Amino acid sequence: MANQRFVRNCARYGAEATLTQITGGDDCPCRLTYDGENPTYSKEWHDNNPSIEDCLGTLKINRETTETNVKFFVTDIRLSETTQALQKEIKETIGNILRDDLAVTGTVNVDEMIFVDLSDADEKDTYVTVNSKIYRIKAIFELRTRDLDGQLLILRRDQ
Ligand SMILES: [Zn+2]
Repeated sequence: MANQRFVRNCARYGAEATLTQITGGDDCPCRLTYDGENPTYSKEWHDNNPSIEDCLGTLKINRETTETNVKFFVTDIRLSETTQALQKEIKETIGNILRDDLAVTGTVNVDEMIFVDLSDADEKDTYVTVNSKIYRIKAIFELRTRDLDGQLLILRRDQ
């Protein structure tokens, strides 16, 4: 959990972004047409049942979308305040950093002035909008130093 000083500084000096989280929902009936461990999307089922919302491959319907105004610090991961150990860990987790990737430290909910723990964020159900561009969370690293207690997120442009 991030300390209050970090939360205040991040809310004051951080870059603005919108965090979108899609949660809950019911299993889409299209998945029931398949047995087994890994149900897959059935476009055919949706074509035959146009009155039911198309889950568009998420296999969930009636989902809720939450948008949160957040801020975080954007850093250039290649110029390094990041330690070599962390750089190595990043490389092992997601491979090479791409040119459009963002490394950000945060994240603070600026309306409630609280730290947003994204440890459990699912890449499919969570995304971040920065300057009208959509990014997915590729990796999350816990950051703990004397002055800072937050999370480093590697964000990748949505294709
Ligand atoms: Zn479906």
